[in-house]
Amino acid sequence: MSEYRLSDLLDMSTVQKLADSNFKATGLPMSIIDKTDGSFLVKAGWGGICTNFHRANPRSLEQCLISDSVVNDHLDEASHQYICKNGLRHFAMPIIVDGRHLGSLFLSQFWYDSDVIDQDYFINQASKYGFDVDIYLDALKRMPVFSRETVDYIVAYDESLARFIADLAEHSLRFIESQESLIESEDKYRTLVDNVPIGIYRINPAGQGSFIKVNPAMVEIFGFDSSDEFMQVAVSDLYQSLDSRKSYMKKMQADGFVKDLELALKKKDGTPIWCSLTATAQFDEQRVIRLMDCVIEDITERKNAQEELQIAHAELEMRVRERTAELMVEVAERRRFEEKFRELSETDHLTMIYNRRKLNDVMTIEIEKARRYARPLSLIMMDLDHFKRVNDTYGHSVGDSVLKATAHIVSGMLRIVDVFARFGGEEFIVLCPETDIDGAAALANKIRIAMEEFSHPVAGTVTVSAGVAEYNQNNTGMALIEKADLALYTAKKAGRNRVAIASAQAEE
Ligand code: GH3
Ligand code: MG
Ligand code: MG
Repeated sequence: MSEYRLSDLLDMSTVQKLADSNFKATGLPMSIIDKTDGSFLVKAGWGGICTNFHRANPRSLEQCLISDSVVNDHLDEASHQYICKNGLRHFAMPIIVDGRHLGSLFLSQFWYDSDVIDQDYFINQASKYGFDVDIYLDALKRMPVFSRETVDYIVAYDESLARFIADLAEHSLRFIESQESLIESEDKYRTLVDNVPIGIYRINPAGQGSFIKVNPAMVEIFGFDSSDEFMQVAVSDLYQSLDSRKSYMKKMQADGFVKDLELALKKKDGTPIWCSLTATAQFDEQRVIRLMDCVIEDITERKNAQEELQIAHAELEMRVRERTAELMVEVAERRRFEEKFRELSETDHLTMIYNRRKLNDVMTIEIEKARRYARPLSLIMMDLDHFKRVNDTYGHSVGDSVLKATAHIVSGMLRIVDVFARFGGEEFIVLCPETDIDGAAALANKIRIAMEEFSHPVAGTVTVSAGVAEYNQNNTGMALIEKADLALYTAKKAGRNRVAIASAQAEE
């Protein structure tokens, strides 16, 4: 703003007309001098002594200019009356625009009717500058003469005029400044719009849609050569599917905007791209969209990465599911294997009933239960009679077959709570929880009879001897077995195929 001069802010031809009219009305010459270089911006009624003599001669002009600049430099807000260095009466008033003294309004070349003109001074002037004395004095005589009162009126009027001119200039200055800041902000905005890597554009959506303005990023995103080329295409040409444009426009019509809407679009050469769109609509009175301002971002890379991630995720999930299924199969197999292993480890392989190890485990538990709850528990120990003979007569495999048949027959005669085990060789044990000695003896006898009645297809009849014993609070498992074994020995000694009950003495 500092470089502005008065002539930049005002139409000086209008001011000149104002000054001309002013002169015609008052008869008092008026001028406006630029503060910066002392040049005349406006001159009215200046034909007389100043123009024709003082300012026409270089040496006297020098005096004029000194007067002008001294006055110009020392003017404050008020008007100033002075006699110039060439002896003439003047008034000067400053034109102050936005605090700066840009020019001065001068009323010049007049006399008060009370002034006494010093003829000698002017004659001296004429000879000093080489003026024709007569013509010079004639010009002096022709200078207008006013009463002080008239001059006061004119000065008051012209002070107002100077302020009015200053106000006009200030308005003009404000307008220029606002234009400048508008241009500056427009420039900034344009620079921003031109440089952002985000597409910014304005369209008229009617019909196929036409572009009104696109920024350079749009040209780049959609692979065009220039924005002029871009302006030739219809908006709908950039859509992969017209349906998506339809639904997007439906939303714009309803809401007047969309935010971060993901759209499948395509470039000039048809390459598909994903874009994120934010747009606002301008409606007319009939709520028809006239314009749409849009911001668009190419999100193809992000979208592709997301899709790849989703695929990778789905693949991973599938692999995890597959592996989980595999693991479940493995676990089930392992369980089956362990179950089988456990079964095998506690089963006698020939007869498929419990083996001695399992018997020991179960007996520990049953003895503990009997002891704690003071419940009866009995044990039958059985041994096939003269089994050696069977082997010797029919062979070992027939002997095995007899052992299997025995296990099968006995198993069929027991309660679910009874525990049946092969103790070793041709010896078997039945552990009978919740059973006293009589019950166990009865069972042993039933078994003995069943065996006696059974006839093996090869070996024929094979009898069994049994010893029965009941647990008492002092017994360990081993002691209970030994008691039954002793009774078994008794049965054998007594002639076999019989049941012997462990006597109370046997325990001592
Ligand atoms: P006792 O009436 O006194 O019991 O006479 P025994 O012949 O049955 O008794 P001994 O202890 O002399 O013979 C038992 C036989 O049982 C000896 C052995 O060969 C046979 N034996 C032991 N285990 C098996 C087996 O798993 N299979 C076969 N086939 N025979 C077996
Ligand atoms: Mg034996
Ligand atoms: Mg035997």
